[in-house]
Amino acid sequence: MTTRIRHQAAPNPSGCRWCGDDRTHHGLYYVKSRGLHAWEQPTNAQRLARMHARRNATKEN
Ligand SMILES: [Zn+2]
Repeated sequence: MTTRIRHQAAPNPSGCRWCGDDRTHHGLYYVKSRGLHAWEQPTNAQRLARMHARRNATKEN
């Protein structure tokens, strides 16, 4: 099994709702909370939370 390097910053706001990966290079990916899954659209709440997290992360840098 290959190990993916996870992003240090908050995931893409439109990334997978389960793992945050971009749709373009998602494929099938395993996470504990979901199991093996294909890219799935994040909820509006998730998008907003990620956007806020990104904004906060940018401030710290
Ligand atoms: Zn995913």
